[in-house]
Amino acid sequence: MSGKLELASMATAPETDPAFVPEHRRQSAAVRERFARLYQRPVTLEIAGLTKSFEAGGGIVTALQDVSFRAHRRELICVIGPSGCGKSTLGRIVAGLDEPTGGSVRVDGEEVDGPCPNRGMVFQGYTLFPWRTVLGNVMFGLEVSGLSDTAAEQQAMPWVEMVGLARFATSYPYQLSGGMKQRVAIARALATNPRLLIMDEPFAALDAQTRAQMQDYLLQIWRQVDVTILFVTHDLDEAVFLADRIVVMGAHPGRVLEIVEVPVPRPREVAHFESPLFVATKKHLEKLIHHERPKDTDRLPIVRMTQVGDDVE
Ligand code: ADP
Ligand code: MG
Repeated sequence: MSGKLELASMATAPETDPAFVPEHRRQSAAVRERFARLYQRPVTLEIAGLTKSFEAGGGIVTALQDVSFRAHRRELICVIGPSGCGKSTLGRIVAGLDEPTGGSVRVDGEEVDGPCPNRGMVFQGYTLFPWRTVLGNVMFGLEVSGLSDTAAEQQAMPWVEMVGLARFATSYPYQLSGGMKQRVAIARALATNPRLLIMDEPFAALDAQTRAQMQDYLLQIWRQVDVTILFVTHDLDEAVFLADRIVVMGAHPGRVLEIVEVPVPRPREVAHFESPLFVATKKHLEKLIHHERPKDTDRLPIVRMTQVGDDVE
């Protein structure tokens, strides 16, 4: 309870606090209008009172406790939080790959009760079919939905072009870099025209430069497509760069700490990383997440393993 009170007081901290991020109504006119337009759009994803527990090692782990939030049509909403706070569990339940213990998930008003082509998914690991070409991978979902080879190819090719891989349409996954593979995964997920794209740490395995490039590509793609994105990450910079709003989660039990409206203007550019709004938003997230970190795990119970040499710092 006291934790909640402290968090509440943080949210209303004085404006001299470098981590203070006012809600959109107290931001510039452009930001206010952007959020007003966003909230007028229909709700695509509605998560209400979602709970998930697992039995593990003779005990019960509450991976998600009473998680509720909504995403509007064409919103890019990020979910961040420390390892183990239930981000992947949330993504899997929204995708219909796992069942909740309680609560509900609705996409365009329809309750989720299993995987469905109206939800696409991109994971961290490369999940491409190694025996299929780039085009063949993007055609996969279309073939499953019953299209002929020719029709599937016709519908898949514009997506291959959109992610900038037309020249590699007949290449196989082993011939591509990590970033290119994830672009194929995005094209494959979007080719069936899903309402919602669920991305679970999709760029986490990439090197820093490729990751930054992929974030930029994702924003370019999202601007061209009528899709709502639920993007899971533990990288604060990535969340602030991409999101309209950020759902900040805490662990044990996995729950929503706060939903932050990102005031950084769009279109986002690399230069924004150093802007005062970007820095303040990131500090605010750090404060929320740091506040959560259990102190007793900061120090490992390591015994001294060496008797020789200089001490290291
Ligand atoms: P995150 O993606 O935020 O790191 P996860 O959703 O993977 O977190 O996990 C949340 C919690 O649920 C963790 O404590 C994890 O150990 C537990 N958990 C996840 N999946 C299972 C499972 N299949 N069986 C038991 N415990 C699980
Ligand atoms: Mg995870």
